[in-house]
Amino acid sequence: MRFGKTARITATRTLPLLAALLSFSVQAAGFIPLEERLDTLLEELDPDLAFRHEEGIQLAGARLQVRDCQNYPYNQPVADAEERLIEDLRQGLKQGIECMIGNGPAGRLHSYHEYQAHLLLNTLESAETKTFRCVADRMFANAVATTEQLPPRKDALYRLLRETGHPGVVLDTFRIGGLLSTRHSPETYRSFFKLDDQQIREHLTGSPLRLGGNHRYQNLPALLFHEMVHWLGHEHSAIRPDMAHLYETCCFGGSDYISDPQKNATFQAKACQALKDVDLWSNAYKPYRQMRLWHYKEYDLIKSAMRDNYH
Ligand SMILES: [Zn+2]
Repeated sequence: MRFGKTARITATRTLPLLAALLSFSVQAAGFIPLEERLDTLLEELDPDLAFRHEEGIQLAGARLQVRDCQNYPYNQPVADAEERLIEDLRQGLKQGIECMIGNGPAGRLHSYHEYQAHLLLNTLESAETKTFRCVADRMFANAVATTEQLPPRKDALYRLLRETGHPGVVLDTFRIGGLLSTRHSPETYRSFFKLDDQQIREHLTGSPLRLGGNHRYQNLPALLFHEMVHWLGHEHSAIRPDMAHLYETCCFGGSDYISDPQKNATFQAKACQALKDVDLWSNAYKPYRQMRLWHYKEYDLIKSAMRDNYH
């Protein structure tokens, strides 16, 4: 009798616990480690699996398309340009995500970044088509990522981003190639760029000029990864952690605009140190507090110090 009563009580109390355990084990069964998700994605990002259509190529497994990129990266026709873009993308994701989840040379970062990797993988695994599209001389940036919300209608990039669709990245092969824009006035070419009439004519009708000192972006996997970080809603900022900049600097060896390897190594170490800072990331969801820490610990000086070293 006594036994029976005890058993009954135990059973009533155990049921919710059992239900909880069961749901946990169901969730656990569906849990796929980040490393495994990354491996699957990298296998799908194989140019050999792509099929070609009029505007470019499509990778069905990875739900990804490359449009108008026959001149990627430096605005010159290259055989297999679109395949090269997929290769760069693959390399960028491998290096970037491994770094975020603590498997890169930087070692373990704060777990906040593993969560960011999880969010990025979610986007990449989603059914939506990810578009990588090239334009020539249509932007003042090397690349621009789309965001969930379009910019205001009056924004110069509104149409371009709307046509591309989210998630997407628009790459400007003129800017990446360091080429002088063809959109200036004849007067600007004459007085500012010091071109004579024949040079202006050749620039506008023949092959566009690349003037001395115009940077040609080398680390394209880093550029592509940087853009995809923007898909997570991280915007550039001087007063709070600039995620795209931090990941690019820590995970890809500094800046493409700095040629001195030693300086790059120093900036890389600073960015990685910031990404490991427990105080900073345990306050990631308290924006004001995090902003104060960012400033107090002088992490806000990294980006401007790097700018001072651009060649
Ligand atoms: Zn950016």
